[in-house]
Amino acid sequence: VPDVITSLEFERLINASGPTGGKVARVSTGKVPESVVFVQCVGSRDVSIGRPWCSCVCCMAAIKHAILLSEKHPGMEVTICHNDLRAYGKGYEEYLKRAEDGGIRFLKGLPGEIWDDGRGPALQVENTETRAMEILRPDLVVLAVGIGPCEGNGDLAGILGLPLEESGFVKPLDDKLGPFLTERCGIYLAGTATAPRDIPDSVAMGEAAAMRAFTDTLRE
Ligand SMILES: Cc1cc2nc3c(=O)[nH]c(=O)nc-3n(C[C@H](O)[C@H](O)[C@H](O)COP(=O)(O)OP(=O)(O)OC[C@H]3O[C@@H](n4cnc5c(N)ncnc54)[C@H](O)[C@@H]3O)c2cc1C
Ligand code: SF4
Repeated sequence: VPDVITSLEFERLINASGPTGGKVARVSTGKVPESVVFVQCVGSRDVSIGRPWCSCVCCMAAIKHAILLSEKHPGMEVTICHNDLRAYGKGYEEYLKRAEDGGIRFLKGLPGEIWDDGRGPALQVENTETRAMEILRPDLVVLAVGIGPCEGNGDLAGILGLPLEESGFVKPLDDKLGPFLTERCGIYLAGTATAPRDIPDSVAMGEAAAMRAFTDTLRE
């Protein structure tokens, strides 16, 4: 279906140094869309495909994208279809409130499929708050594809002698007491190697791993 992109592609589109110089355009016409629908939890929180985890960052990323869009293009219809929103960090709830106050529509319900109705993408969503079936016909759809383990994790873990979790992420020594440590002394973990996480958490983990590497070196 044309005019369906991923959140990573959207991130590049809206970036001033991206391929369109920051202009968000429909793939089919090159024109600025009048309506955009974000679809959350695509490939996350889905046991049927073996990806039961929440990707942590895509709710806030979609809210960020929606706010950027509506500030750049007042009057554009922006809808976020979601399971439930996870705005768990400091200031995140306030950011969500800003999006709601700014006219962004939060529709609780996810489409089963997206089809091309000749004019563009179409999706059917059950609004689980009103029980009404709605058919949306936006100009552009953005899929929140989430975060998974890197494809090369198996090879890399094999070379380094590290165990992987069933999910494919690298297994830390201890999730609570040693989230950046591994079974191998001198090999440390950070960021999304072990699970989905946002930039502040990834940076904090990287700093912790670097400091631990430094103190381990001093001890030897
Ligand atoms: C669409 C989207 C929007 C986001 N928006 C936000 C946001 O607004 N705010 C926020 O805080 N977070 C956001 N995030 C999350 C953010 O991208 C991550 O938190 C961050 O990138 C994690 O950093 P990292 O270094 O762990 O992983 P990455 O940034 O993925 O870096 C890992 C690097 O390792 C390389 N690599 C992997 N395997 C190998 C290998 N075997 N050999 C060599 N190199 C390898 C990869 O190519 C990559 O360059 C967003 C994520 C997505 C997908
Ligand atoms: S962060 Fe939001 S969109 Fe992403 S998987 Fe979790 S609930 Fe779904």
